[in-house]
This record gives sequence, C-alpha cells and structure tokens, in this order.
Amino acid sequence: MSLRPTVDFLLHDWLKVESLQSRERFADHSRETFDAVLDTCERIAREKYAPFNRLVDTQEPHFDGEKVTLPQATHEAYKAYAESGMLSAAQDYEIGGMQLPYTVEAAANAFFAMASVSIGSGMLTSGNANLLMVHGTELQKKVFALNEFSGRFSGTMCLSEPQAGSSLSDVMTRATPDGADFEADPLGARYRLKGNKMWISSGEHELSENIIHLVLAKIPDANGQLVPGVKGISLFIVPKKLVGTDGQLTGERNDVALAGLNHKCGWRGTTNTLLNFGEGKYPVRGEAGGGLDGAGSGAVGYLVGQPGEGLKCMFHMMNEARIGVGMAATMLGMAGYYASLDYAKNRPQGRPSGAGGKDASRPQVRIIEHADIKRMLLAQKAYSEGALALALYCARLVDEQHTGTAQDADVARLLLEVLTPIVKSFPSEWCLEANSLAIQIHGGYGYTRDFPVEQYWRDNRLNMIHEGTHGIQAMDLLGRKVLMENGRGLQLLAERMLATAAKAESAWAPEAAALRDALKQIGQATQQAWAGAEPAQALANAVPYLQAFGHTVIAWIWLDVAASLGQDDTPAAQGRRAACRYFYRYELPKIGAWLNVVKSRDPTCADLPEDAF
Ligand SMILES: Cc1cc2nc3c(=O)[nH]c(=O)nc-3n(C[C@H](O)[C@H](O)[C@H](O)COP(=O)(O)OP(=O)(O)OC[C@H]3O[C@@H](n4cnc5c(N)ncnc54)[C@H](O)[C@@H]3O)c2cc1C
Repeated sequence: MSLRPTVDFLLHDWLKVESLQSRERFADHSRETFDAVLDTCERIAREKYAPFNRLVDTQEPHFDGEKVTLPQATHEAYKAYAESGMLSAAQDYEIGGMQLPYTVEAAANAFFAMASVSIGSGMLTSGNANLLMVHGTELQKKVFALNEFSGRFSGTMCLSEPQAGSSLSDVMTRATPDGADFEADPLGARYRLKGNKMWISSGEHELSENIIHLVLAKIPDANGQLVPGVKGISLFIVPKKLVGTDGQLTGERNDVALAGLNHKCGWRGTTNTLLNFGEGKYPVRGEAGGGLDGAGSGAVGYLVGQPGEGLKCMFHMMNEARIGVGMAATMLGMAGYYASLDYAKNRPQGRPSGAGGKDASRPQVRIIEHADIKRMLLAQKAYSEGALALALYCARLVDEQHTGTAQDADVARLLLEVLTPIVKSFPSEWCLEANSLAIQIHGGYGYTRDFPVEQYWRDNRLNMIHEGTHGIQAMDLLGRKVLMENGRGLQLLAERMLATAAKAESAWAPEAAALRDALKQIGQATQQAWAGAEPAQALANAVPYLQAFGHTVIAWIWLDVAASLGQDDTPAAQGRRAACRYFYRYELPKIGAWLNVVKSRDPTCADLPEDAF
C-alpha cells in the first residue's frame, strides 16, 4: 500500500495544485517539477527514514555529560534531508530556494512524517529560519537563516519554561542589555539571557555545526522588574556557538547548557531538552559584559524585531507549524492504517458469523472479512485521509495568502485563522484514535513491540500536548477565532461549506442536508455559548465545541472530495465514497451530544468542588 496515489489524487484531482503555475512566483513549476520533488522525498523517506524508525525508538539519545549521541542513521537521514533542498523549498531562487508552493512542500514532507516522525525532517529548522526571513535584519538572515536553510546550522524554538507552558505570559527568562554599546552589535541589539527553557526539541545534538535557538525572554524595566503579560516578551537569537558577521564560528561556546534530556513516551528519535541559559557553565565574553544586573554574564543573544513583540513574531510561524503538527499526527494515522490493513489481509482468525460459522472443520477467514475489522479500517481511513485532505487544503490557503490577490489573500488569512485550531487538533485526537484502532486490529500482537503500531500510538500521543494543548486550541477557537472580526472567518467558512453542499446536492443529497444541519448547529451553539455568558461559562465546554467543529469540518472536506469523484468507479474512488458515507453515518451524528453541553453551558464539570473529585 503506497501513500503516493492518495497524495497525487488530493493535490491534482481535488486541489488542482497545478493552477498555481499561473502565479508569477510559481511560473517555472509544472506537474513534472512537483512530481520530481515528491519522488525525491518519497525515495529518501523510504531509504533513510523508514528502515530506522524502530531503531531510533529503542536507541534513545544518550547524554554523557558533555555530548549527546544519536544513532548514525539519524545523522544520515539529517544529511539526506538537508541535501534534498527541502529546508529552503519555499524560499526564493536567489538564496538557493525552489520557490515551491507550500502545498507541495507540505505534501512532500508527509512522506518523512509517515516513514519516521521521530527522526524528524526539518520543521523546526525551516520554521526558525522562515521566521528570521520575515522578522530578522539583513545580516541576521544572512548569518543565521541562510545557514539553517543549507543544513549547516539547525534551529529550535524556545518558548516553554518549567513553570510556563500554556501560559507563556509567565516566562521568567531575563534578557539584559550587554554593555553600553549593546545596540551597536551588527548582529542585532546584544543582550545577556538567564533562565531555563523546558521541553526544547532538538535542543542539543551533534547533527549540525551549530544550533540556533530562538528564545522568548523578558527585558526588565528600569526598576529591574519583569513586565507582566505577553507584552513584555521579546525574541532573541541565541546561538549555541557564537558566530561572526561572516557566518563563521568564532570558536566561543555560548553559555547554553544542557541540564538533561527528557525521556519520552514516544518520538524518541528527537532529543528533548531542558536548557539552562546563562547559568555560568560556559562563561562567555565575561570581560565585555556589564548588563544591568551587573554581572556581565549570561548567554549572548541578539534581539529579533522590536522589544515586546516577541510572541507576535513567534506567532507569525504558528499557522505553518500547526499545519505541520497536524500533518505529523495525520501521517502517523496513515502509517497505522496501512500497517493494520496489511495485517488484516493476512491474519486468518475465526469464521464468518451466520450459518455454518461454528463449523471448526471449515477453514478460518482472514480478519479483513469480519465486519468489525472493516469498520475499524474505514474509521482509520476516514480520520486520516480526511485529515490529510484538510492539511493540504490549509496549505493551499497558505499559498493563497502569500500569492493571491489582496482580497483572496485576506479571505485565506481569515479562513486559516479559523481552521488552524482544527488542522492541529482534529488529527491529534482522531488520528491517535486511528492508531488505537490499528492496535485493536492486531489484537494481542498490536500490544507488543513486534509490530509497529504501538510505536505509532506513542509517537502520536504528543500531538495533543505540544504547539498548544487540546484545551488551549479549543479556547482559541471558541474564545477568539470564531468571534474575531465580527465572526467573518466563521461566515467565510460557512459559505465554503454551503457551496460544497450545493455542488454535492444531486449525488449526495442526504449528506449535503446533514452538512447544512451541522453548520446550523455550530452557528446556534456559538451564539448560545456566548449569549450573555461570562467567558468562564462560555468556554467551560470549549473542547466538546472543538470536537463538534472538527467533525463538521472533516464532514465538509469528505463531501467535497466525494463530490469531486464524478463517475470514477475505481476501487480507490469506491473507498473514498465509503469513507465519506462512514463519516456521515458513524461520526457526524456525534456532534449533537457535544454541542448540547456547549449550548446549555452545562456546568457539571466546571462547578464541581475539588473535594468532590
Ligand atoms: C515532547 C515535547 C516536545 C516539545 N517541544 C517544545 C519545543 O520545541 N519548544 C517549546 O517551547 N516547547 C515545547 N514543548 C512544550 C509544549 O508546548 C508544552 O508542554 C505545552 O505547551 C503545555 O505546557 P505544559 O507542559 O507546561 O502543560 P500545562 O500548561 O501545565 O498544562 C497542563 C494541562 O492544563 C491545561 N491548561 C493549562 N492552562 C489552562 C487554561 N488556562 N484553561 C484550561 N486548561 C488549561 C492544559 O490544556 C493541559 O491539559 C514540547 C513538549 C513536549 C512534551
């Protein structure tokens, strides 16, 4: 079973991605160039990633107090990915990029996520560099971003702290000006950072020549106090090893120390670190210091953008990062689907129910012949392929936002605002459920490490936690996204859903009616949740709202996919129609229960006193 035909169908038959060639930025591209990128990524994923997925799970990163050791396979995968040019795929030709549409880039990266999400491709590095291309100075772009795009340096995102995860306004890392001439540094206003950053992915390793940390920290006010709230947060480039203006390492180790590795449930091929900034393990340029705290110590960092705008800069990358997380969850769902489909086709067990079913002299059937196994396979397909379609749809909106007319770009921006919590959270929850079903299909074997499905589940369990937990995504959706700009994003989404329902009317009348009804329910629930309510009441059931919203979005996506199939009667088209029907019959009706508690602002959970738990 190969992913490629599904990707090709979604990109070309459904999303008509070649139409992007009419944009000046993509004029040199064609089906051939898109295919060449997908071919390359599919090959590297098959050769350098897939065979080592189990190895990186069992040979966890090891820290000897000085260096972190990763398996050789990870080094080779990193090198092959960097050499493929994918780190700078979306960038301009002049700086060595491919000017590839993000839709194709996202599709190409899907192959790595399916082969070994744990080894990782370059999401953090390219995300870090992309941010600098937007918010950095010319020299910051040249010295840091370009070296990340080539794979010479790698990147991290350092937001979380031990005491500040969901609530980033509580970060305590301090950044103080480094000497009287701190603003004169050509690499950007120079500060000294002190603090601890928790959970930092790829925070320490020997894969690249240098690691460029993007760190959120607060600049104390004139009284030495940290400014409360997100307005006090600024963004800094903190290289592990200091770099000159020519991009060469100066030979000085910056004061960023690995306090320890986190030992995770899954995704073990990627290091996850607690980093201490400026604790004095690697004193650096001590004589040049003189920060306001008087120490002249701390990790050297260069301001990106304006003071106080750090979170805004970080959020610039969030849409793509969240599509990336959703895509990772989706591809783990797909991986489990393919593995369990293969298993179900080969495992003989039991006999058909009905006449003669108890006759042990008859041969056993393969489990794919049992209705319940088919149900679990179709559920996985409906969740995972639906989520993949949504991720590519959102990626196409990113391209529209970047290259469409001003009006289309604005529509795409708003649609992305509303869809981003869904593209991140639907796969995180339901492709995880898909992985659970993949284990179930394997029976006891699925619960052992002899088959890959338990690892897929463990790897996928992260996705509801990082890049904004499920609960935080839900509050973002109900508390902000559906309300912003007087609900215009929700209205634009509703228009697209209604257009799909109209298009599908003739061949899919019951589904089109169900979609219209679901949309009406979402609209009513949104209004009733907020009708005169305090935010605490309205948001108390934000997660059921997110679940209902996500199911409505995926129902819409499936109907749109199904309506695009026309008269196609190949097995692939039959499978897609069945997945659509499955979603409308088994999944969409769930939204009623989810929305009831939203509409009534049900206080069962919120009002229960702690003692009663
Ligand atoms: C493997 C891994 C990799 C990571 N990689 C990175 C990285 O590279 N860079 C980085 O900066 N961070 C990273 N993170 C951190 C991740 O983003 C945080 O774990 C996440 O934001 C949650 O923060 P927390 O763990 O402190 O949990 P908490 O914020 O303490 O949340 C605990 C629970 O409380 C809920 N909760 C919190 N606040 C509220 C609220 N106001 N209302 C309702 N419920 C609430 C949450 O939804 C959650 O269920 C990573 C985490 C992991 C596990």
